[in-house]
Amino acid sequence: MTDRDRVVVAGALLDRGRLLAARRSAPEEVAGRWELPGGKVEPGERPEDALVRELREELGVVAEPLARIPGEWPLKRGYVLRVWTARLLSGEPRPLEDHDELRWLGPDETDAVDWLDQDRPAVAEAARLLREQ
Ligand code: C5P
Repeated sequence: MTDRDRVVVAGALLDRGRLLAARRSAPEEVAGRWELPGGKVEPGERPEDALVRELREELGVVAEPLARIPGEWPLKRGYVLRVWTARLLSGEPRPLEDHDELRWLGPDETDAVDWLDQDRPAVAEAARLLREQ
C-alpha cells in the first residue's frame, strides 16, 4: 500500500459457526454480487472504529473486530480492501444501507453466493476459520 491509498474495511462477521454475506443493491456494476459488509475509513479514523461504524450503519448491529485477515486487495481508484474477523455483540443484522439481502453461510456454504472477486481471498480464509471452530 502507498501513502495515497485509501482503505476500505470489511468485516467477516462470524456468529454461531456461520459467516454473514451481504448482497449489494448498488451501484449497477456490482448490484447482485455478494460482499463482506464494510466501507471507507474516514480521514483520521482508526480502521477498527470505521468497521464498527460501518457495520452499525449498514446492518444495525454492534460488532467487535477480532483479528485482521492477513493481506490487502486492490480496489478501484487507489483504494485497498482490508478485512477483519468480527463477532456480533448485539442486534440481528438487517440490510439497512447498500444491501438488499443478507445470508448466514455455514462452513460448507461459503461458495454458495457470487462474491465480489476482491472479497474471495478473505472469504476463503474466513471459511477456513469456521471449519476449524
Ligand atoms: O460500501 P462503500 O460504498 O463505502 O464501499 C466502498 C467501495 O469498496 C465500493 O466500491 C465497494 O464496492 C468496495 N467494497 C468491496 N468489498 C467489500 C466492501 C466494499 O470491494 N467487502
